[in-house]
Amino acid sequence: MAEALQHDIVIVGGGGAGLRAVIAAAEAYPGLDIAMVSKVYPMRSHTVSAEGGAAGVIKPNDTLDEHAFDTISGADWLADQDAVELFVREAPRELVQLEHWGCPWSREPDGSVAVRPFGGMKNERTWFAADKTGFHMLHALFQTSLQHTQVKRYDEWFATRLLVEDGRCQGVVAIELRTGQLRAILGKAVIMCTGGGGRIFPFTTNAAIKTGDGLGMAYLAGVPLKDLEFVQYHPTGLPGTGILITEAARGEGGILVNNKGQRYLADYNLGTPLDVGDQRHPQLRSMELGPRDRLSQAFMHEQEKGNVFEGPYGTYVHLDVRHLGENKIDSKIPFVRELAKNYAGIDPVHQPIPVRPVVHYMMGGISTNISAETVLPGLYAAGECACVSINGANRLGSNSLTELLVFGAIAGRNAAEWARSHPGLNRAALERQADVEQQRIAHDLINKHGGTERIATIRTELQLAMESGAGIYRTQSSLQATADKVAELKQRYANITLDDHSLSFNTELTSALELEFMLHIAEALTHSALQRKESRGSHQRTDFPQRDDQHYLRHSLAHHTDAAPRIDYADVAITSWPPGERVYGRAEEPARTPPAAHSGS
Ligand SMILES: Cc1cc2nc3c(=O)[nH]c(=O)nc-3n(C[C@H](O)[C@H](O)[C@H](O)COP(=O)(O)OP(=O)(O)OC[C@H]3O[C@@H](n4cnc5c(N)ncnc54)[C@H](O)[C@@H]3O)c2cc1C
Repeated sequence: MAEALQHDIVIVGGGGAGLRAVIAAAEAYPGLDIAMVSKVYPMRSHTVSAEGGAAGVIKPNDTLDEHAFDTISGADWLADQDAVELFVREAPRELVQLEHWGCPWSREPDGSVAVRPFGGMKNERTWFAADKTGFHMLHALFQTSLQHTQVKRYDEWFATRLLVEDGRCQGVVAIELRTGQLRAILGKAVIMCTGGGGRIFPFTTNAAIKTGDGLGMAYLAGVPLKDLEFVQYHPTGLPGTGILITEAARGEGGILVNNKGQRYLADYNLGTPLDVGDQRHPQLRSMELGPRDRLSQAFMHEQEKGNVFEGPYGTYVHLDVRHLGENKIDSKIPFVRELAKNYAGIDPVHQPIPVRPVVHYMMGGISTNISAETVLPGLYAAGECACVSINGANRLGSNSLTELLVFGAIAGRNAAEWARSHPGLNRAALERQADVEQQRIAHDLINKHGGTERIATIRTELQLAMESGAGIYRTQSSLQATADKVAELKQRYANITLDDHSLSFNTELTSALELEFMLHIAEALTHSALQRKESRGSHQRTDFPQRDDQHYLRHSLAHHTDAAPRIDYADVAITSWPPGERVYGRAEEPARTPPAAHSGS
């Protein structure tokens, strides 16, 4: 095998979190040599498709406490409050910093930064760049990263595993997709910024590359996956494709209507409807601007009542923005119009948009502390692949883009510090490990003949099993059936066969590697869900419909074993906001109390 490549820090992922980490590490210690490994060109990372915006307190009528409280109650109290406090405090600084790097935030007529309302947020605090926020953010980050010449980019390199030696993470093994060559890329610190894994479900807003590779790599290296049972369904995806219609459409005043012509959310304790066109905002947390978990659950109830439309791609309701008028639609949500025209064949200026809930985001991920450290020394994680946790049982829309910035920067700085103080890598041992990985891939995948299972078949069966047993509503038996199915699929995976035995851009090989990660995280997710016998946020068990703080105000931690995953639990950090009821639709002050004594168990 070719000689190992060596750097001080290896950052896996070129999305928002990866680029922010790169810049932070480069700024912290310009003498460090940084590698950034990405399976796609950085600008093709999923961050580019984020539309609605990024949350951060900026207006005088808003406070950090309110942002923290909205996030914590939205999370159904499963967020770590110390992490949330750090997050809301750093958020405005990061968003202003991004402006200085060239992100063109939309403006008010007086020139100040414009903010829009978002689901579950009591005040307007979502910064946006029309409805192409992720594109502009990623652009600003990418061009800023180019200033740092000590960064070596490995674009279109696919990381397959972490290298761990002497109890420390010391690099990754990656395939250069153009040549098919496998190389060890060594570093004294590694940061995982590999994004989420929504593709384990069949109907998702997530790009095809979101297969949870980083979660899989960390999990197999012994790092637990935290709160993986919490999967966010976004209430407004286009039927058929799953393409997202951003929450900004509702933030700007769009309404949801069932097949009886009713604004059905009025029946779900989400506040009272205001007249269409009413532009006042005391209703920010009500109705269509309720949190995503509640809106997606309401859809399921409407479906049960027969109040939804039937279409060629399943059931749906209407998202109506017609009353906003063409000018506002074109200035505030032009991309919504473009997507609806191109992918639903309707013009939202004249017709309502068909929408249904769609898998969007994973609240859980690689378990980290607020310094972005994992339990494996030298390994850090940030962005959607990580679970700090600020999102708990349900993320509020527009917190994720800000999370990438805040924790991407923290990960970058801390990894740089670690790399500086931990010289020396066990190069020979790491190269031997990489050899073993090369042989595994050659033997089990590229050069293997005679297997009888197909990648696509296993992937489809996995996705359908996840949807049927681990979707918006779950039970012991549905989850057990999914867990059994995933275990069966894992066994069958050992017998897959590839038709493409070539080296250059072998997409069948990368699909096989991705599928392996998907199977692992699906198993961890299902077992975490099986053992959480309560309903909280996005995890709704019809056999355990109540939230049970006494037993489950705890983070689940899934550990990889040779058999089924082992699940244990960790306390939730409660600093100032004792667990309460989630109330939407009426003004309510955040109840900050002196630090509460809470055992978390
Ligand atoms: C359609 C859509 C709209 C959204 N809108 C919003 C919004 O308006 N506001 C908001 O706050 N959030 C939004 N989100 C969520 C948010 O955009 C994501 O959570 C966030 O962008 C993830 O960023 P990331 O840097 O963690 O990962 P990503 O941007 O997904 O980047 C992952 C990176 O990891 C690399 N990678 C993965 N696996 C490997 C591997 N095996 N080897 C090498 N490299 C690898 C990829 O190449 C990529 O560069 C949206 C999400 C979607 C899907």
